[in-house]
Amino acid sequence: MRSTNGIVTAVLLFSLRGTTQQPGQASPPAALESSQATDSSSAAALKARQETETTEPAPVQPSPLPQAAPTTMDQVVDRLIERERHLMKMLADRTPIVETYLQNVTSDAQLGPVPKDDRYFLGRMDFRESIDRKDYMKQPSMEKRLLGGFTKFFSVQYQPLGFSWMIFADRDDFDREHYDFRYQQREFLGEVRCLVFDVIPKKNAGKGRFLGRIWVEDKDFNIVRLNGTYAPRPRNAYFFHMDSWRLNLVPGYWVPAYIYSEEGDFSAGAKNRIAFKAQSRLWAYNVNSGKEDELTQVLVDSTVKDESPAAQDASPVEAERRWQQQAADNVLERLQRAGLAAPQGDVDKILQTVANNLQITNNIELSPPIRTRMLLTTPLETFSIGNTIVISRGLIDVLPDEASLAIMLAHELAHIVLGHNEYNQYAFNDRMLFSDEATYSNLGFKHTAAEEAAADTKAIELLKNSPYAQKLDSAGLFLKSLQTWAPHLPALLTAHLGNNISDKGTVTRMSALINSAPTLEINKLDQIAALPLGGRVKMNAWDDRVELIKSQPIALTSARDKKPFEVTPFFPRLSRIESRNTSSTVGQR
Ligand SMILES: [Zn+2]
Repeated sequence: MRSTNGIVTAVLLFSLRGTTQQPGQASPPAALESSQATDSSSAAALKARQETETTEPAPVQPSPLPQAAPTTMDQVVDRLIERERHLMKMLADRTPIVETYLQNVTSDAQLGPVPKDDRYFLGRMDFRESIDRKDYMKQPSMEKRLLGGFTKFFSVQYQPLGFSWMIFADRDDFDREHYDFRYQQREFLGEVRCLVFDVIPKKNAGKGRFLGRIWVEDKDFNIVRLNGTYAPRPRNAYFFHMDSWRLNLVPGYWVPAYIYSEEGDFSAGAKNRIAFKAQSRLWAYNVNSGKEDELTQVLVDSTVKDESPAAQDASPVEAERRWQQQAADNVLERLQRAGLAAPQGDVDKILQTVANNLQITNNIELSPPIRTRMLLTTPLETFSIGNTIVISRGLIDVLPDEASLAIMLAHELAHIVLGHNEYNQYAFNDRMLFSDEATYSNLGFKHTAAEEAAADTKAIELLKNSPYAQKLDSAGLFLKSLQTWAPHLPALLTAHLGNNISDKGTVTRMSALINSAPTLEINKLDQIAALPLGGRVKMNAWDDRVELIKSQPIALTSARDKKPFEVTPFFPRLSRIESRNTSSTVGQR
């Protein structure tokens, strides 16, 4: 029998925001069980390979030739205008994914602005087209349905130039003829020193011009942040306020990655025609898209090499497992190529550690061993295929602690153990030949209600034997908090590949834990039942790699600070790609 010595804690990297860590939980991860050894060494090899790749980012147009440093602010303005044009050119043939998650907000006497309902949009941006998005969710009236009562405002704002307006200050006329640039000050954003300009459209420059502030880094003079709106507005259109951030992911270029939008007056008693908060993310700039002929490119390091000296033809049971594994590999590779799944990486090691803790204490030995992968999208969902558990970025973001992560993984582990994952059809490669936009209609991993219930029962059995048995209260609290907000978050709770966690506003996943959970106490500041969105996972918009954010816990001062499941503004710590690469070769990790 295996001992529990192999249990390692992932809590170091997955700690509870806003509270102090328990002593004894801060030990570094111990060596993994031997059954995981092959896996971890291949992960190490992958990491090594990724690090070499990091130092040599994927080919783009050569970075700008060194130019003499500008000596006047006028020269700086010329340079930043030129750099903006270079960026548009560099991105011209890119088709990143754009995701917008929007919460309509209402005012709660105790909690301030809280979500009333929500909308979700996922598309691919094509910088060449004037109508710049293709829907991942192909349904004729989907946009209407998604945008609900917002259709009018939102669609006007999205089309025809739409979203790209919020990515660039002005796609067509960002120049001195149309704008005044007024230098304000120097300011650091993260590690990067910036020159700050107010940008004001000239009289008669036309409608829908950028009005606001830009931050320009002081080395190559690229815009790294834009904050403002568009003005004046046409009679029948509406422009939102936005705060748009770019990251230095390619030498010489700062790539648009995050946009926060907000409208409405959130002060008490204010009457709003519209009030919302929205997060938009762009990613998959450098991931193959819509090119089905490029199947030769190996992106997934998932194939386990058969190294046993006695390797022979597979026995029937073994062949069945390999077949399932092939289906899983196909699906994960396809999702990664569509820009919907992150490449295998360090975060997976943390998730696998938690899954491993569940297996060891339940004497479960699976072949091939459990792997995990992350979907890059916001809606809260999990699914599993073969022995691979997939969990969405949005779900990882809002989970308050390791025990809550464990219940989500336990549910999928239960499906695996119970043999529910019969997706062998995906082992045929022709079934992977579809356009990226059609991913959600070609892939699906939904179980029947009976299988869902069986998986929940089995998962609770697994959890009771596990190191998380004493911590299920906090996991139950998470579900309780989710139950509180579920009626207001239908879009966040609509799974696109797996089963929904809730049904018509009622949480169904692992719901037995809700009954045994302690009372949800909004005013108890050290009771963090769920986190806001976006606080845990950091995505590299260029190559889709993910890492966990190491932010310092901040003391909460009121119940309003908790913001479970809520959209909040972005404040990424900006740094230059060179400085990041230097620090990683020094061996910080
Ligand atoms: Zn399930």
